[in-house]
Amino acid sequence: MFAARGEEVEDASLKKIKKRGNLKNPVRKLDTLIIGAGLAGCLLAWRLRAAGQGVQVFGDAAQSCATSVAAGVINPVTGRWAVKSWQIDALLPEAEQCYRTIEAELGIEIYHPIPLRRFCQNEDDLKRIGRRSRNPRYANVLGKLSPQGNAPSTLCDPCGSFEIFGAAYVDLPQLMKAMRAELQTHHSYQEARFEHRLLEQDSNNLWRYGDFAAERVLFCEGAAVVHNPFFPNLPMKPVKGETLAFRCPELPLPRSIYHNGKWLLPYGENRFRIGATYDEEDLSPSPTPEAKSSLLEALAKILKEVPELEIEQQLAGLRPSTIDARPILGQHPEKPGLYLLNGLGSKGASLAPLMTRQFVEHLLQDHPLDPEIDLARFQ
Ligand SMILES: Cc1cc2nc3c(=O)[nH]c(=O)nc-3n(C[C@H](O)[C@H](O)[C@H](O)COP(=O)(O)OP(=O)(O)OC[C@H]3O[C@@H](n4cnc5c(N)ncnc54)[C@H](O)[C@@H]3O)c2cc1C
Repeated sequence: MFAARGEEVEDASLKKIKKRGNLKNPVRKLDTLIIGAGLAGCLLAWRLRAAGQGVQVFGDAAQSCATSVAAGVINPVTGRWAVKSWQIDALLPEAEQCYRTIEAELGIEIYHPIPLRRFCQNEDDLKRIGRRSRNPRYANVLGKLSPQGNAPSTLCDPCGSFEIFGAAYVDLPQLMKAMRAELQTHHSYQEARFEHRLLEQDSNNLWRYGDFAAERVLFCEGAAVVHNPFFPNLPMKPVKGETLAFRCPELPLPRSIYHNGKWLLPYGENRFRIGATYDEEDLSPSPTPEAKSSLLEALAKILKEVPELEIEQQLAGLRPSTIDARPILGQHPEKPGLYLLNGLGSKGASLAPLMTRQFVEHLLQDHPLDPEIDLARFQ
């Protein structure tokens, strides 16, 4: 299923990588090469290094990176049907522990627990969420109904709202920056595009790339995995997303995420962010005027009156989603030593801590992978 595609033209940079791998340069033996330094690659590198493994991470700043634009919102109850997100009861404590440990180790603040208020869209929505809030399985994530009109007066509140417990936002761009810098100080990070066609297996079953010789290669390329010749038929369904960051001094709101169709996240000091759009057609990496209009329309639905605001940034990226909305982890079926972790979709902030732990336990301790996330489910 995962045969390599044909080789193409060799350019100067490829020659350079090849030259570094010739006999004059000593071979750098290590356990793992990681391709991609977004959330998945950074957390895997962190966990593997903590387990005493030698890693080298390649990250290509020229390619789209979902982690660098994500708001990092963790919302335990999602979607039109307001259901608990997949495995959320296991994901939440793992995420908190993982991000708190990283904060302490790297001296950064990235994990921000925050109340989240979800507004009902209509009477059906109200009934549905009301029913869930009486279900004991939802007691840890859904609060009681706050009747229509009880929300802050600046917000539209046609049908009432519910508080969602366990929500947070994770500063993923800061996490990624700090982890890349940490890897760099240990000479374990290269800001460079990884050229798949130069990866070869030697007679000792080590994977050779330039002057590196590694036991395994972990591909964590996000949506760019569609260009990976070793895994050509992955059932990916990338979804473009855009958000707007803005300043607005005339919008006093208690600290909470407000979810009414789209989410509005107040950061404090008059700074806000609204998001996110979902587009499966346009997979270009750049922001669009259409998304900007749609986000401003969404803001007008959240606020009774939209005050004057100053747009600071419009960010766009590709979510690495899969057709069954589950992560994908596992080993290449025919090329031992080549692995993949992908499919974090729109929920990387909550999924990545547990998925990377399970993956490392699989790699180092031979723990079986949950069949629901195992790459083997597509064979
Ligand atoms: C607009 C937007 C908003 C989002 N908001 C949220 C949110 O609120 N909450 C949430 O949980 N999730 C959110 N997400 C989703 C989240 O960003 C992703 O789930 C997560 O960041 C995916 O991480 P990743 O490491 O798998 O992929 P990426 O972050 O895309 O990282 C992949 C990396 O691999 C690199 N790469 C690829 N090919 C190569 C190569 N050949 N050589 C070297 N490097 C390579 C890329 O440059 C990139 O840096 C959002 C996404 C978008 C686009």
